[in-house]
Amino acid sequence: MKNDSDKREPHQKPKLRLWYVVFVLPLLWALNQSLLRLFGEESPYRAEHSLIGLILLTLYTIFLTRRVNLQVALRFFGLAVIPCYIGTVLPDLDISLLGIGGHRNPVFHGCFAYIGLWFVLGRRSRLANQLVRGFGIGLASHLLWDTWDYGDVRWIAGGTKDRLWLITNGIICLAPLRASAPTD
Ligand SMILES: [Zn+2]
Repeated sequence: MKNDSDKREPHQKPKLRLWYVVFVLPLLWALNQSLLRLFGEESPYRAEHSLIGLILLTLYTIFLTRRVNLQVALRFFGLAVIPCYIGTVLPDLDISLLGIGGHRNPVFHGCFAYIGLWFVLGRRSRLANQLVRGFGIGLASHLLWDTWDYGDVRWIAGGTKDRLWLITNGIICLAPLRASAPTD
């Protein structure tokens, strides 16, 4: 009796299924703990944001396996882990630079850093492109999570406008991911 992999056409790429995330979650949690230790982070907020970033990166890696082979997708995941973590951290760096009074301002809680990196580095080489993609996924995850787990954005009045700002900027960070995929 033939199983699914026997039935697969020779040209078909092996795919990761969405529900695999359930099994991968404990591994992502462990990876997140390692990253937090590596960067000396103890804040539960930081842990929450970086875990959400890893989950979004995993979902994108699953999406990638529909367009490239599994090896290429997993290599992307490996390359993108640290930039993704940095992307989740960036919005909160405004606390160190501007103090808690300037926290969650639209410059840091926006897509500007990602757009800048995309134009400066993202088109320079495949490697740089993949690193910038990882950063964008991390930044998008932070902005989208802040939309859900709401926090007031400075200088923008009203909760609805704040959420619109966060979700729009988060989606902009994800938009280039559909345009092309890493090929090797
Ligand atoms: Zn935030």
